[in-house]
Amino acid sequence: MNDEGQQSLLDFFAPTPGVHHAPPAPTRPAIPASKPTPAAGGVVFERSPRAESYRLTLRRDGTAVAIIPRRGSEREALRFVEQNRDWLERARARQSKRPKAAEIWTVGTHVLWRGQMTEVRVAATLDPFAGLGQAPRPKVCLAADVFRVAALEGDLRPTLEAHFARKAKVELPARTWELAAVTGVEVKLVSVRNQRSRWGSCSDNGTISLNWRLVQTPEFVRDYIIYHELMHLLEMNHSDRFWARVEEVCPAWRDAELWIKRNGALVGL
Ligand SMILES: [Zn+2]
Repeated sequence: MNDEGQQSLLDFFAPTPGVHHAPPAPTRPAIPASKPTPAAGGVVFERSPRAESYRLTLRRDGTAVAIIPRRGSEREALRFVEQNRDWLERARARQSKRPKAAEIWTVGTHVLWRGQMTEVRVAATLDPFAGLGQAPRPKVCLAADVFRVAALEGDLRPTLEAHFARKAKVELPARTWELAAVTGVEVKLVSVRNQRSRWGSCSDNGTISLNWRLVQTPEFVRDYIIYHELMHLLEMNHSDRFWARVEEVCPAWRDAELWIKRNGALVGL
């Protein structure tokens, strides 16, 4: 099996829900969850009562995690890590080559917008309503969307991100209400926020919080995150039952998880 295959298989069997959502702590865990133990060689050990075998994954933050199954030992895990050292090296190399977002946005920079890497271009500034002698107000466009900026020079990122967040505050709740109606899930409140490490979250009082950066992702990713949180209002955990519900309403969830894993860094997540 090539390493990409192994990676995909791991994605398939071990979606990393913590990436976009911190699940509420189980009220009565069958087996007390162990704290991650740092191990030699930059690998963290985690015991999982649900794991059937040893697994090694590389998280997007660069942390390698060795999962120890129910009846496993740290010593065995260490051996497992040694056996898969080559895979880990390759996975790390591949990760370092993944696309990264530009830090500073200027005209000509490509930024992720509505699922596409889109060039920031200068928009026509002809404004028939501007008075004579008034300086034209500069605007830039990303595909079909036009945004006003204070000046074309300098870092456009703060201004553009503020525009994105404003659009998100309108679009994301609207889409959530739509999908809530489709799935028949009762939602009390949708809030759009500036989370640094999550795509979405929800609380058992029926509130869904979404990251404004979802306006930057492809629609199927945005919809998956919304479905994911909607299904949490029915199933406040990441049990098999939860994933079965997700599967039913959003069969593309695995592709969306994969997209997030590969491209999340484009929006800093
Ligand atoms: Zn979740």
